[in-house]
Amino acid sequence: MKCSRCAQENPPQDKFCPECGTRLRRDLASNGGSDRQAQIQNDDLRRALAEATEQQAATAETLKVISASPNTACSVNWAFCGVYAP
Ligand SMILES: [Zn+2]
Repeated sequence: MKCSRCAQENPPQDKFCPECGTRLRRDLASNGGSDRQAQIQNDDLRRALAEATEQQAATAETLKVISASPNTACSVNWAFCGVYAP
């Protein structure tokens, strides 16, 4: 991070500037980081929700196709055969 006194760019884990010895302020940077982290988690949640909804729609579509054609259902999964079981 940048030193507030001499503008020297220092590694983020440094507590003091090696150029002038000024204590490096970490609090501002870490606050920005946690906000960013929350934003990323929010995006992940939204993406996961969208994927789950898509999967649900795909499953419903598959079930519709299977129930429309019992023979296909039997070849996919015997549990779907019901009264059509051999
Ligand atoms: Zn400095």
